[in-house]
Amino acid sequence: MHSEANIQSFSDELTKLPNRRFFIKHLDDLENERFALLLIDIDHFKKINDTYGHDVGDLVLSDFGEVLSHFCSELSMPARIGGEEFAILIKNTSENQVKKIATDVFNASNKIKINENAFLSISIGGGIKKEAETVKELLKRVDVILYEAKKSGRGKIMWSE
Ligand code: GH3
Ligand code: MG
Ligand code: MG
Repeated sequence: MHSEANIQSFSDELTKLPNRRFFIKHLDDLENERFALLLIDIDHFKKINDTYGHDVGDLVLSDFGEVLSHFCSELSMPARIGGEEFAILIKNTSENQVKKIATDVFNASNKIKINENAFLSISIGGGIKKEAETVKELLKRVDVILYEAKKSGRGKIMWSE
């Protein structure tokens, strides 16, 4: 029971992904590591809820969680860090590989159907931790680039160099 409670307190019920608490806890161990961070935000999600209903919104989130679960490996951890906000931590992986993962996530999510003629759109901000940078600074930097992706039209991946 103890371990069942543990699993529940670190995972998100709707998407079955690690939750924000787990994500933040994990970040603490990465201060001296080189890793990449992807921040993902679903585009116009409020409109999906408003147009098709909250239940459809929930289904879309759970479908997206299922897509992200395929990107879970020893080196890569996806998590739901907010309502329609997600993150992927990627360790010990080349810049090219990280960019490929972002593209794969992006393409896979664009295949998620909201209804007959509407598909999911997401924005992704990505960055690789610099040696002289703290985890907090990396988070901020990637958050800023995600905001840029949103501001400049959404439905795109942007990298912070
Ligand atoms: P943007 O493209 O700028 O990101 O716009 P947005 O509508 O996606 O962003 P906004 O932050 O305005 O709205 C997010 C919405 O996500 C609002 C909230 O009601 C909804 N939401 C958060 N958690 C859940 C959930 O668990 N289920 C459902 N159905 N909706 C949720
Ligand atoms: Mg958001
Ligand atoms: Mg959004």
